[in-house]
Order: sequence, then C-alpha cells, then structure tokens
Amino acid sequence: MLYPHTELRLASVETGMGVFALHAIPKGTITWVQDQLDHKLSVEEVAKLPQELLGVLSHDYYRLFGGEYLLTHDNTRFMNHSCNPSCAHLFDDVEIAIRDIAEGEELTSDYASFTLETYEEFECFCAAQGCRNWIRRDDPSSLKAYWQPMLEEAMRQLDQVDQPLRFLFAQSSLHAKA
Ligand SMILES: [Zn+2]
Repeated sequence: MLYPHTELRLASVETGMGVFALHAIPKGTITWVQDQLDHKLSVEEVAKLPQELLGVLSHDYYRLFGGEYLLTHDNTRFMNHSCNPSCAHLFDDVEIAIRDIAEGEELTSDYASFTLETYEEFECFCAAQGCRNWIRRDDPSSLKAYWQPMLEEAMRQLDQVDQPLRFLFAQSSLHAKA
C-alpha cells in the first residue's frame, strides 16, 4: 500500500503520470509496504509468459530480489525513476523516504534498486543532478556504498515520524518495529 496522502499527476509529457505528495512527508516515513492485495508472480509463472508480455512486466511490475514479480494494486506502479530519488527500498517489501519530501513534490525511486533484467535496462532522461544516463542491472553493486548511509539515516527516523502505514509493519520486513 502506498503512503495515503499522495495523488497521481502528470509528471511530464515524456514520463507520463507520477505520484505526488499532498503534504510534506518527512525523511524516515515508510512510503510503501507490500500488502495482501498486491499480486505476485513466481519465477516459474514468469518463465511461462509469452515474450509479448515481458514488456508489460517490466513496465508495471516490480521485480523482487527473489526473482518474483509484483503488481501493486494502487498507484505505486506509477512511481517514476529518478537518479536522485526521494524514496528507496529498505527491503523487497518496504520503501522509505530517504529525505524530506515537500508538499507537491514527486515521490520517486531508483529503479536500479530493483533487480532489473538486461531487457529492462533503460536510457535515463530524469534530468536529476547526477543522472547516470543509463540504468543498468549491475548498478546496485556499484551504488550500494552510496545508498547505504542514506538508508541507515532514514531508518533512524522511523520512530520519530508519523507512520500511516504502521498497521502493515507486522506483516513486512519491519515486523520488529510494529
Ligand atoms: Zn537519471
């Protein structure tokens, strides 16, 4: 489930729709938790899909580190990539704001923090400062040292900020925090 006080807006003509904050969201706020209504495809189910559906998978589904794909039931799938994102995956099933997000600002994440297949690599036009221009499946290994301190700092705020998604913590990787 996506952080509730957000809405879909046109991010840009090139990018299409995006998810925007209806009020300020402080660093450390959990912005998404996987829930029972999300739809997961196993590795075996994905292997049986016709080639034509693989593009749909990479567009609408998140690929989890176990190789499964996840279709979220809400606007989470409209979250756009940024090379300087406002949110990041803590675990497969949890995303957190890694900096303060202003009212009206777009919620973004770095798609390289999912496990991309080679066919899912893409040229990036996010225009963020430090844009890598090309998003590759091996980015996580080169970016881990850059991401880790931001994640750890955001996690230290977990208990300092409102958590509207706290009711989902117990069934997620955050179970110790519930
Ligand atoms: Zn970029």
